[in-house]
Amino acid sequence: MKLVDHFATGLDAPICLTWELTYACNLACVHCLSSSGRRDPRELDTAQCRAVIDELQRMQVFYVNIGGGEPTVRSDFWELVEYSTDHQVGVKFSTNGVRLNEKRAKWLAGSDYVDVQISLDGATAAVNDAVRGPGSFDTAMRAMGNLADAGFRDFKISVVMTRQNVDQLDDFAAIADSYGGQLRITRLRPSGRGADVWDELHPTAAQQRQLYNWLVAHGEGVLTGDSFFHLNAFGSTPLPGLNLCGAGRVVCLIDPIGDVYACPFAIHEQFLAGNVRAPGGFSEVWRNSPLFQDLRRPTSAGSCSSCPSYDSCRGGCMAAKFFTGLPMDGPDPECVQGYGELALATAGAPPKPSGDHSRRKKPVPLSIGFGQPADRACDTSPLAGMR
Ligand code: SF4
Ligand code: SF4
Repeated sequence: MKLVDHFATGLDAPICLTWELTYACNLACVHCLSSSGRRDPRELDTAQCRAVIDELQRMQVFYVNIGGGEPTVRSDFWELVEYSTDHQVGVKFSTNGVRLNEKRAKWLAGSDYVDVQISLDGATAAVNDAVRGPGSFDTAMRAMGNLADAGFRDFKISVVMTRQNVDQLDDFAAIADSYGGQLRITRLRPSGRGADVWDELHPTAAQQRQLYNWLVAHGEGVLTGDSFFHLNAFGSTPLPGLNLCGAGRVVCLIDPIGDVYACPFAIHEQFLAGNVRAPGGFSEVWRNSPLFQDLRRPTSAGSCSSCPSYDSCRGGCMAAKFFTGLPMDGPDPECVQGYGELALATAGAPPKPSGDHSRRKKPVPLSIGFGQPADRACDTSPLAGMR
């Protein structure tokens, strides 16, 4: 059996387990996949998080991707990182850099089992801050500088590709080189607040082609989280990585309150498999939940079955289809053959993500633009209001 066939039928433990530790965040990025902002009072406490780590150790989960929200704003965050690495579960955590001062960067550089991923969505402050908020570019650059000065090599610079930053791919690569980091680019999905801005932010058809060509020419050493496999339909050179949806097969999400979803981009009750606090814990959910069992069964190609590119594209991303109101067995909204756009023209109203922890009470602006006036203290400084 080929490795990819093992992946298609699911593994004993997830390869890519994302754990969002909190919905609290000092920023309010317009495309936040988990609609984060405010902490949820039901979030797992320290003892419950330790119990999850104990279970991951028993399942021999090699490492966990920790995110949020902004995970470092949890007062027990560093303690949990240490607990995890002490229990043979490596940690890669995503951060906007707010807590990565010189001292913490040195501490991180001293650990072999912790990797850091700094979020940056523009190679210039103007492009980045229009999406992530004023001051967030400087915060990220300062954190990268601290990591580089501490001798932390190959930390990740994680970029969500948007219509506004596709032209900056070379600049992102240059930034990564200059700090001794590694570039990681991922796909914008219409999940969480991303649904509100997807029309405005997702790359155009021409930019999808540009992105594919850039990855083919310069992608060696660039990580993608396997998120661009739908672009394989552009040509005969396949992008490295898994070319199928791994939701519930090799990927899943534990959210801050312990709910387990099939994928970090699929926070909706339709993709909710269980909760780590239920009897049997996470391993019971992963191995036996009806939803995950179902996702591991062979799927029909549906309306993509006559497409000559099906074997390389597999109909694209389940979450992208779901949150744009497209059927699961149809083309991806960014189908490179243009079938997604046609389907979107007649799609019904897209479903709303479950839960919204946004601090903003008014809708996301329809035009993001540049240089908007700040409407919250944390728009002026990411550190505003933090101890
Ligand atoms: S739903 Fe999309 S993002 Fe999630 S695992 Fe599948 S292809 Fe990847
Ligand atoms: S029609 Fe379906 S399989 Fe073909 S390129 Fe589009 S999304 Fe992929």
